[in-house]
Amino acid sequence: MTYMINKIEANASKSIQTITKTDANNLNTKITKQKEMLKSIANQITKDNDINEEKIFDLYERSDITSNFIRMGIMYENGYTITNDGYEVDYSEEKDNFFSSSRIGLSENRESKINGEEINIYSKVVEINKEKVAILLIVDTDSYKDIFSNQIFEGEGFSYIVNKDGNIVVNGNEKFDTKKIMDIIQSNIGQKIKIVDIDGSKYYIAREDIGINNWSIVSFIQSKIIAGEINKALLITFILVIAVILVILSISGYILVINMKKRKNYSSAEKEIEKNMKKALKNNEFVVYYQPKIYAKTEKIYGSEALVRWKKDNKIIMPNIFIPIFEKNKFILKLDLYIFEKVCMDMKEWKEKYGIDIIISVNVSREHFTEKNFINKYVQIASNYGIDTNKIDLEITESATIDSRINIAKIMEEIKKYGFLISIDDFGTGYSSLSILHDMPIDILKIDKSFVDQIGKKDNIIENILSIAKKFKLKTIAEGVETKNQKDYLTKEGCDILQGYYCSKPLSKAEFEKFINEKN
Ligand code: C2E
Ligand code: CA
Ligand code: CA
Repeated sequence: MTYMINKIEANASKSIQTITKTDANNLNTKITKQKEMLKSIANQITKDNDINEEKIFDLYERSDITSNFIRMGIMYENGYTITNDGYEVDYSEEKDNFFSSSRIGLSENRESKINGEEINIYSKVVEINKEKVAILLIVDTDSYKDIFSNQIFEGEGFSYIVNKDGNIVVNGNEKFDTKKIMDIIQSNIGQKIKIVDIDGSKYYIAREDIGINNWSIVSFIQSKIIAGEINKALLITFILVIAVILVILSISGYILVINMKKRKNYSSAEKEIEKNMKKALKNNEFVVYYQPKIYAKTEKIYGSEALVRWKKDNKIIMPNIFIPIFEKNKFILKLDLYIFEKVCMDMKEWKEKYGIDIIISVNVSREHFTEKNFINKYVQIASNYGIDTNKIDLEITESATIDSRINIAKIMEEIKKYGFLISIDDFGTGYSSLSILHDMPIDILKIDKSFVDQIGKKDNIIENILSIAKKFKLKTIAEGVETKNQKDYLTKEGCDILQGYYCSKPLSKAEFEKFINEKN
């Protein structure tokens, strides 16, 4: 806490210095601008060969600088002065002050001879009709107070403009005895920042030169205010802590609501899918896309994987949206068979039309494996279209092999009995025991995309998977091959077959036909 208090005190003295400096800069700018105004009028006067008092006052009155000044005066060399608002004043006893320099002067504050107001006078000597006159622009001294940052510690600070002797030029605070303040200022004239005592209270004072007329700005701030700042800072810290807690609470609440909404949206999306699925099947909205698989070494076509798409109202819904729902409600049993039948139809057509007889794989959801004699249906469909089962590869995910509801070894034996090929899909993600490779009649290992993605990075275990597969005499397919680099690496490491965007994305039936006809 002391650290914080010290810091606040340091900040307070720093900020009073900063404020004073800013005021000094602003005052400099204001005076410089007003001097420029006089200079500009003086220029116009000297340029005019036929100038007279009336024209000079006219120049002033028609300019846009009048709001800066109370009035304009023309002083003759004897001190006789006439103003634009009709006053005549005698400055004979101090005329020399105005005529001694050809530069623009700014007087210290003085009482107006016209009405006793406190004023300052800008002056510039010019020649009219071969006669020297001083052009005067008179400002209200109080107008300099504009530049004081009244907001210093919420108006609790105050400032003075003082001249080089420490006399007050502009008094920003009438509350104190001016004489006393001048004494303080004069006795601390060389100091930039100081703590002083006024009427028993401690004040910080800061001084900053304005760079004109040897004037400077002196600002005062009571140290009590700084103590108040300290209390305020402590209060702010407390409020901040509470605010942070509230923010955290409301964010958690928000997340909760969003999650609830998501869940609700999800379940309503799910309901929508379930409502439409049967009709969709009837209306042939489910269509088969084929993703080519190529031999790594020759890049010739090996076969393809059939992937379902749902074409609904000219939009394509991807399988990761609906397959999990269909697995839950068992509609997948119908869909997989439907897709399988479409694949068989296509294979028959390709064989007859183009003599193409390649291996097509279909995804078989694990939900089939709890159905009695599920494979009979596959056998029946294949035979209906005259398709050789050894041209059909059934993709079973590795995770299905560890499903406790299923005797996977028995099921695979059954599948094999009818001659289908078996692929283990997403291999490497299912945490199965490697013994499945040995104990079960598997033909092909499909190495999951996540391992292909690791190629070129450290800790890549793809070589190990490939060498194990070789040991068990299994064919290997790498899925999700996207780059030439991955293709080259996999080929070098002895992977047999490649599937992925590098070769081709999944294609519609027509696109796939074009693809194989071009490749062959
Ligand atoms: P999957 O069996 O692992 O199929 C491979 C998925 O990877 C496909 O996604 C395919 O489009 C995508 N893919 C292929 N090459 C690349 C590549 O280079 N980069 C990337 N990023 N992705 C690639 P898709 O078609 O969206 O299918 C998703 C999943 O849906 C399939 O994963 C499969 O588990 C399931 N699925 C698709 N069709 C059927 C089906 O008829 N029956 C069943 N039961 N499941 C299906
Ligand atoms: Ca698959
Ligand atoms: Ca896969």
